[in-house]
Amino acid sequence: MKYAEMTSPQLAEVERDQTLVVIPIAAVEQHGPHLPTATDTIICTAIAEKLEEILPEKILLVPTLWLGASAHHLRLGATVDCQLKNYMELLQDIARSFLQDGFQRVLFLNGHGGNIDPLKVALRQLQLEFPESLLTGGSYWAGASDLIHETLEGDHKFVGHACEFETSMIMHLRPELVQQELIANAGELILDELDGFFVSRDMKQRTRQGCTGRPDLATAEKGKLLMEGIVNRLKSTVKKLFQQKLGTAYEDFC
Ligand SMILES: [Zn+2]
Repeated sequence: MKYAEMTSPQLAEVERDQTLVVIPIAAVEQHGPHLPTATDTIICTAIAEKLEEILPEKILLVPTLWLGASAHHLRLGATVDCQLKNYMELLQDIARSFLQDGFQRVLFLNGHGGNIDPLKVALRQLQLEFPESLLTGGSYWAGASDLIHETLEGDHKFVGHACEFETSMIMHLRPELVQQELIANAGELILDELDGFFVSRDMKQRTRQGCTGRPDLATAEKGKLLMEGIVNRLKSTVKKLFQQKLGTAYEDFC
């Protein structure tokens, strides 16, 4: 079910306790010289739509939130940012609209690294208001690290930024938006970690030109393979989410 294509009487009939509300959240921010600013929004939307296509009775798909928490890209330009405090409120406002309307299961499907920390905090805050609901969220790549590891050829075997992964996905989904002649090895990535401690550095400090890893190794074929594998894994995660009991105390889950 696609929320934005339904009328209010149609939505009124949706079974509140049999439906998972899927809220894709992404961003519009610089993606180096070769990928479009809406890269995360394009990928996350495509994955969410494929998931809805295979589970149309179970999922209520909300339009993708294109505005993300992207302050760490601002100094590179071509970035629209939502400040963290506003972003956490925004996520809660969207979910609250569904929870107050009787829906009990919500999944934020994230497509942008900068959204991960505020998403978790937003869910923790929301849980105080709706302790009986299933409030979940994570990045679309979270359950596919083995697939990503075996598909990517460069040594960055994870989802970076305008990297081998994201470039392959856009080559598969929207090849006309890829500036082929500007694709290059992104060089060394300056880490944001030291002995397990987080070191806060923005993308201007961490990358030469706003991208990471080996976009020069990207292909549309890898993108297709990754897309299909990720959607399959998400399908199994959705099934597990429906098996989760709802409750407000430990005894409810035993
Ligand atoms: Zn991003």
